[in-house]
Amino acid sequence: MPARTGGSPSLDAIRGSMKPARANARAVAALTDNPGCTRRRVIDAARVPAHELAERLGHSVIRGQSPFAITSGNRFEARLKEGSGYSLLVEVLRPFADLPSAGWRVADLGHAPGLRAGQAWLEARAKLTDTTLRAIASGAPDAPHLVDHPVIVFDLAGTPVYLEPDALAFRKGKELQLVEIKSYAIIDGQADPAKVSSTGGQSAVYLLALRAALARLGFDPNILRWSVILVAPKNFGRFPVAHEIPLRKKAMALERVLRNAPNASSLLSDLPPDFTLDVPARPGPSSAARQRREIEAAVRQLSMRYVPECLATCDLGRSCRAQAIADDQPERLGRTARDALAGLGTLADARRLATRGVSPSEEHLADVAEALQDAHHALERARAAAPAECGLQSRAPGRRT
Ligand code: SF4
Repeated sequence: MPARTGGSPSLDAIRGSMKPARANARAVAALTDNPGCTRRRVIDAARVPAHELAERLGHSVIRGQSPFAITSGNRFEARLKEGSGYSLLVEVLRPFADLPSAGWRVADLGHAPGLRAGQAWLEARAKLTDTTLRAIASGAPDAPHLVDHPVIVFDLAGTPVYLEPDALAFRKGKELQLVEIKSYAIIDGQADPAKVSSTGGQSAVYLLALRAALARLGFDPNILRWSVILVAPKNFGRFPVAHEIPLRKKAMALERVLRNAPNASSLLSDLPPDFTLDVPARPGPSSAARQRREIEAAVRQLSMRYVPECLATCDLGRSCRAQAIADDQPERLGRTARDALAGLGTLADARRLATRGVSPSEEHLADVAEALQDAHHALERARAAAPAECGLQSRAPGRRT
């Protein structure tokens, strides 16, 4: 196992023998949901596959879409692109763009000469994307109208991330427009708000990455519109429909979070030089249980900021929830409880303040205790007024409800 004898651990040593995870827009977008979580930042920076770590911790993850949804999504996208020679896609985008009715050009960057997969393939496609963007932004007469399978390099607080959007950029007058293809249905102009919000979060990452790429190539990033065109099946059918989603607010919020995100070296400075999340199994009795305990101990060295929303946005959600419950942390009740109970280590502390008030060393928590006591008294009054058959009057004060 690679380890250092002094200083901070290396990102490679933290990941150890685990296969490097590929960062994606969903992971970057998740930073806006929980920007202060050191655990997540270290895991992302070290490219630790979070789902594999969760499995090693005994909290396996059911990831992503069902095989059926993936197949139908792939089929839908293939129809829009190769299946119709891109004509279905161009047709549905035309109300939003100045695409010519004939003679439009497509650059498919999914194939790099001589390469089929791996880091070299990604880097080659990123270079092709730069060349294509340069041609579009400078208005070259032979520039493509649509770009398929681009790769954009994004600097995530000092760590390069290769993003592979479904998205296409195309020319609208002098402007560029981002496009995202999704397989969830848009029914009578409405789609699942959670899915649209998730698409907006991912697209905001692509938008920032494209803006940064344009600036790096010497162009004005403002030629990229602050929106994404969402293309999805119309009413569960085979034909597409398109809607424009504004992204300015989301992208600017993400940019603020990323600007303040600590870089990898500062995150690692407090860790011991031999720190790793790749704890090997050692022979002997209870080997698997002992390995899990050692991984848990390593993960606990990375501070976390669990909130219930983590369950939807992070593969470690169930593992962090288990820790929050075991440690009786107020955070497990949500952000409101976390903020209202700031300064309290556990929910048991909150119950003690609610029923017995502060100790002499806790004067700084007097306002929290007062609010908790008010709530506790209101609860007791409500219990006293409840009909006897509810059985609420018999509960002891301060007992967990
Ligand atoms: S699930 Fe855990 S690691 Fe992931 S963001 Fe939440 S607290 Fe951080």
